Amino acid sequence: MKIYLNGKLVPESAAKVSVFDHGLLYGDGVFEGIRSYSGRVFMLKEHVDRLYRSAKAIALDIPMTKQAMATAVIKTCKTNNTTDGYIRLVVTRGVGTLGLNPFNCKTPQIIIIAGNIQLYPEKLYKNGLSIITVGTVRNHPEAVNPSIKSLNYLNNILAKIEAINGNVEEAIMLNHNGYVSEATGDNIFLVQGGALVTPPVYAGILEGITRDVVMQLASDAGYEVRETMMNRYDLYNADEVFLTGTAAELIPVVDIDKRAIGNGKPGKVTKDLAARFKKFVNTVGEPIG
Ligand code: PMP
Repeated sequence: MKIYLNGKLVPESAAKVSVFDHGLLYGDGVFEGIRSYSGRVFMLKEHVDRLYRSAKAIALDIPMTKQAMATAVIKTCKTNNTTDGYIRLVVTRGVGTLGLNPFNCKTPQIIIIAGNIQLYPEKLYKNGLSIITVGTVRNHPEAVNPSIKSLNYLNNILAKIEAINGNVEEAIMLNHNGYVSEATGDNIFLVQGGALVTPPVYAGILEGITRDVVMQLASDAGYEVRETMMNRYDLYNADEVFLTGTAAELIPVVDIDKRAIGNGKPGKVTKDLAARFKKFVNTVGEPIG
């Protein structure tokens, strides 16, 4: 595998960053996870735009244009023949001193890995996930805003540890006011009386690109789509629940905190939207060439 590192495609063994990189020392940096389907990079512009918004929020100047970044992603996919894969785009603060000051770091490191991912076992896409809500509260928006896709994922990792300790694959975090935010790497949707309902961005979530796509596909298909605050009572009493994310795609949830969702099986709206999503991802995107 060839890795893109600061403008060059280098062998995996040569793709190294310094131990003084603040990405490593402090989780100081931003990233994106992107998919390619059938030889095209899915929602590339949206991912690049979000990367630059995350960077802006942490006062990190990415030393290349968005266009050049998009081209670098395509080139990395082409070199590795990543026609159906998962791409990790990382920008670290770069090499600095042992102190916190990010402005001592002169050169951000730009890394693109074109590989693969399988987030959940295949059978769970058919049978649905059992999940739990956890005690780890999602980051307060005025601490580390969940809209920033930063290299510091400890909030999410702490929630994931609780899920694993509870023998389930995934955790739902509540925000500092007790409202539902999101899963550790996915957004959450409820089906309530035929309408699709999801927490708004101000609930303290990452504005997922898959979330946006699913909301658009649902709306085009005639479903009512609403963004509303929700609590655990609303989760337990939903007709259907599913999660969305670049890596997860669209996965049904059938059990939350040992309350069966609906009849405890993936619901028909979830299945319909999963089918629409599957179809859509193969029809759009930037050609890898
Ligand atoms: N929430 C979090 C915390 C995430 O890390 C992700 C991405 N893995 C998502 C939601 C889903 O976002 P997207 O659909 O853009 O991948």
